[in-house]
Amino acid sequence: LAVQGVRQLQPYIPGKPVDEVARELGLAPENIVKLASNENPLGPSSKVLEAITKAQSELTRYPDSNGYSLKNTLCAHLNVAFDQITLGNGSNDVLDLLARAFVAPGAEVIFSQYAFIVYPIVTQAVGGKAVVVPAVEWGHDLEAMAKAVTEKTVMVFLANPNNPTGTCFSRSELVKFLGQVPEHVIVVLDEAYFEYVDSEDYPNGLRLQQDLPNLVVCRTFSKAYGLAGLRVGYAVASPEITDMLNRVRQPFNVSSLALAAAEAALHDQPYLTKACQINHEGMEQITSALNAFEVSFIPSKGNFVTADFGENAAGINQQLLQQGVIVRPVANYGMARHLRISIGLPKENERLIKVLEQIL
Ligand code: PMP
Repeated sequence: LAVQGVRQLQPYIPGKPVDEVARELGLAPENIVKLASNENPLGPSSKVLEAITKAQSELTRYPDSNGYSLKNTLCAHLNVAFDQITLGNGSNDVLDLLARAFVAPGAEVIFSQYAFIVYPIVTQAVGGKAVVVPAVEWGHDLEAMAKAVTEKTVMVFLANPNNPTGTCFSRSELVKFLGQVPEHVIVVLDEAYFEYVDSEDYPNGLRLQQDLPNLVVCRTFSKAYGLAGLRVGYAVASPEITDMLNRVRQPFNVSSLALAAAEAALHDQPYLTKACQINHEGMEQITSALNAFEVSFIPSKGNFVTADFGENAAGINQQLLQQGVIVRPVANYGMARHLRISIGLPKENERLIKVLEQIL
């Protein structure tokens, strides 16, 4: 009985949980390596753990529905105004709020081939029409995306870097695109992997918002800040857009532990620096091995790399699983030859490389 757009959706496929694989293999969970969900391998920051312990005394109370303290900390951190921030239960929640507030049934929403799977989910859930623009070299074809805009277009989703491909577009490409898109179209720039990127020409979306009231930037605490399990993300937008998001937002959508943790995480710069460094070195470690194995991969700016394992990618995935190494098939993105590998700790990467060496 579901509406047509919902019936056409494939359910989201999460990475296999460690416990499930451990049970299947009869192994202890410590012997499983999970490099499947673009999680932070460092474990939580000690400052975050302290903040959560402190926040436990308030568990019987509802969280601060306005996230006052976290939003204030974000304002200072990002140099934006309080009325520009919307907090979400992960940035997925914010993407959902954007669709619910702005996409009417039949309205067109543009995103790229191989774009993050949540974009079709939130679009089709509200009856929006997904317009998928073919990718170039696994990344966004911004020229073609600008040309795909019609009078029915209400929103464009861009991910920079993109998941599952890791591709990035440059500041000049983005600026050109934003100049081509009419103001009635909301451009959602998803920067879930922002903190990892160190390229000079990488655009910080927040710096482009001044003259563009239709540009929304989404970020998350799930990746470099290491809080995927707590679910906190946010959007930075004009006060007008933020006001609309706030109208459809569920009250208390971010838990008290998540609010406290995210605020503490923002104050733990050494953790962030270490997470990015570990990622950088791990990316080097894994991509050198892939090169040595003559496995081609898509150059990635995120905390993962997606590699072409050929016709037998699904079989290789099964063999990895049997050895206790979980990576992520991306056939549901139309990339049946590829597997996405999240960057782990040096020891975890080493284990993956050893097992891959045996298999290949
Ligand atoms: N956007 C992109 C591009 C992502 O890869 C992810 C995480 N898979 C998200 C948004 C959502 O992350 P979260 O809901 O954990 O903030």
